[in-house]
Amino acid sequence: MRIYADNAATTKVSPKVIEVMLPYFDKVYGNPSSLHTRGQEAAEALYEAREKIASLIGAEAREIYFTSGGSEADNQAIMSAARAGAKKDKKHIVSTKFEHHAVLHTLKRLEREGFEVTLVDVNENGIVKAEDIEKAIKEDTCLVTVMFANNEIGTIQPIAEIGALCHEKGVLFHTDAVQAAGHLDLDVKALSVDMLSASAHKFHGPKGVGFLYCKRGVVLKPLIEGGAQERGKRAGTENIPSIMGMAVALEEATSKIKENTEKLIPMRDKLIHGLEKIPHSRINGDKEKRLPGNVNICFEGIEGESLLLLLDAKGIEASSGSACTSGSLDPSHVLLSIGLPHDVAHGSLRVTISEETTDEEIDYIIKSVGEVVEYLRGISPVWEELIKGKREFILK
Ligand SMILES: *Cc1c(COP(=O)(O)O)cnc(C)c1O
Repeated sequence: MRIYADNAATTKVSPKVIEVMLPYFDKVYGNPSSLHTRGQEAAEALYEAREKIASLIGAEAREIYFTSGGSEADNQAIMSAARAGAKKDKKHIVSTKFEHHAVLHTLKRLEREGFEVTLVDVNENGIVKAEDIEKAIKEDTCLVTVMFANNEIGTIQPIAEIGALCHEKGVLFHTDAVQAAGHLDLDVKALSVDMLSASAHKFHGPKGVGFLYCKRGVVLKPLIEGGAQERGKRAGTENIPSIMGMAVALEEATSKIKENTEKLIPMRDKLIHGLEKIPHSRINGDKEKRLPGNVNICFEGIEGESLLLLLDAKGIEASSGSACTSGSLDPSHVLLSIGLPHDVAHGSLRVTISEETTDEEIDYIIKSVGEVVEYLRGISPVWEELIKGKREFILK
């Protein structure tokens, strides 16, 4: 049995999406900038994809800009708002401690350029409070950027509330909706967002393509210079097959949100209940306000990497927010942001299921994680100290 339980990292491309993409490689392969028939066929397809995506999020076609993915959309939204802000002497940005690195590292770059960044705390359940965002906004704030749903712990943020207060205060609001798109309803008007990032490979579309919604009237500056594609905001010949695939993937995923949510929540909760029975463990993130497919849990006394490798040997593909996976010695900034001590954060496991996950797979995951945790604790010097009382348990 091989079980894919890492859908927050990426998803399988849906068969319908692959089918839709194929003709754009060898039949409708023109460059949309070309004036001849083949070029104009591609231009029409591009327009169709733009309209489709716009209508799925309550936007207009001209408010959608295609990018190479979520990272680029995040970079462009933030850099653009910062450049526009600097012109008006507004060089302060508000965000949160547990954003994706595409946001955090862009903000770091801006700090080096002289911008001031306030990273608001999230609570121990992994939710940012709208009132804390409000308190952080100053006279010279040019942007607030808060993710819709966290990629590690799956918690869903009060985006509509934050959007409303940003509008009241006249501050631009961007949301990284990469984990939310195709999984939660997105209506840019109801959410009061000015900019929103999404990435196709997180909702059963292809990798390397995403989009940025930017509300009409909001200044958008290009990140990549060159031709006049995307109305001069993103140079480079459009990736038509992927863009067509993304539009259909978003349509398919959006049409199945209700059905998938109803299917996934009971499986997610079964997984949570099964795993939290393991002694000295803790579920990370709010149990209600979380993505239907996300489970994140810490086990005291073990290392996340060992857990992942042994689970992989049992055919289970999951993820961890612990050190080596991210190539650094520090555990995930997300787990630290919700107040977990380093020792506990190192023993984390993220299981992200999809609508293809079965009940048998859930049972197998619960059983296997239990066995692997027990085995690893049996050979762990830290665990030995804990049970001998030489060290205090942090998780009861
Ligand atoms: C995956 C992800 C990104 C990056 O998207 P790419 O398309 O892989 O560049 C950004 N933000 C969040 C929350 C993500 O989960």
